[in-house]
Amino acid sequence: MAVDLGFIERCEDWRLESRFFPSKVGGKPAWLDLKCIPDEIELRCEYCKEPCIFLCQVYAPYEDNENAFHRTIFIFVCKKSECSRSNENGNVKVFRSQLARVNEFYPPEPPVEQNDWRNDICVDQWVKTCYICGILAPRHCSKCKSVYYCCRAHQIYDWKHGHKECCDATRKITKCNKLLFPEYEIIIEQEDVEDENNANDVSKEEEEINKYETMLQEGETGTLQHEDVQNELLSMANETEDETFSKFRSIIDKYPDQILRYNRGGDVLYISAENKIDKVPKCSECNGERQFEFQIMPQLLNFLELENTLKCIDWGILAVYTCVKSCVPKNGYIVEYIWKQDINLDDTS
Ligand SMILES: [Zn+2]
Ligand SMILES: [Zn+2]
Ligand SMILES: [Zn+2]
Ligand SMILES: [Zn+2]
Repeated sequence: MAVDLGFIERCEDWRLESRFFPSKVGGKPAWLDLKCIPDEIELRCEYCKEPCIFLCQVYAPYEDNENAFHRTIFIFVCKKSECSRSNENGNVKVFRSQLARVNEFYPPEPPVEQNDWRNDICVDQWVKTCYICGILAPRHCSKCKSVYYCCRAHQIYDWKHGHKECCDATRKITKCNKLLFPEYEIIIEQEDVEDENNANDVSKEEEEINKYETMLQEGETGTLQHEDVQNELLSMANETEDETFSKFRSIIDKYPDQILRYNRGGDVLYISAENKIDKVPKCSECNGERQFEFQIMPQLLNFLELENTLKCIDWGILAVYTCVKSCVPKNGYIVEYIWKQDINLDDTS
């Protein structure tokens, strides 16, 4: 079966709001269920105990399940580099939300792609969200009582980054701040199946790698603006005999800017033969089986404007596993399973 690939693109802010059911990276989450949104406790990083920051969301309805007429998967990550531990997932969180066609938030007809169409549909009509990160906000500034926060850490952050100077109800709501990732739309395209067949042929694969190396040396890959990860991957390939990694690279070389591989019920494209996932826990809601749904690729790191590329958050792949049945959430959002696989350079000999 063909794999769907995700690429990122800049687009107008309003297109990425909840009412248009977007797939997107960065900014605040465009929540699907607008009422029972996750709070700071559910989003707490296992290591530093601060809330993880919204990374991306993928709109992925189940066509044959009327309870999942709308369905979105949300991923969050802790931004602290020290919480990015090799092959451990305590700094990443994933949630699933879904709605029937007839629901309390959205009209049953498809949205009209216009800026002013139903802009009354938004999370702030239902609950208070954190001014800084966009998750559920039970606390507010005790002075002006007009700005809400998910936790003390974000309240302090805002106080230091502007709220101190303008603590009053007239403050304009801004959509971005330095704690959030830059915002992009995710565009989905189908991977060319013929290319996949070629990748199974080992000699052809080697030929492709050689060709690619020559092209890189000559600067002809056409992806020079995002060459950091490509070069990193290339140097790793030279240092390791990892066949899994060679396969990984030859498959992604066909579409080097892919940030997402969507292949529900299919196989993970591992980046390494080590630290593969061995046991996916059952669904936390219905106790049913989970299956692989999609993976976030290392190329996304290139677009996140991370300050220090040597010491920042990192991953090889982020593999997301969700309930096969896509069971109905009792409370808006279900925690699903995410596995972070890294390439450990120290292990290669
Ligand atoms: Zn952390
Ligand atoms: Zn917050
Ligand atoms: Zn205030
Ligand atoms: Zn389930």
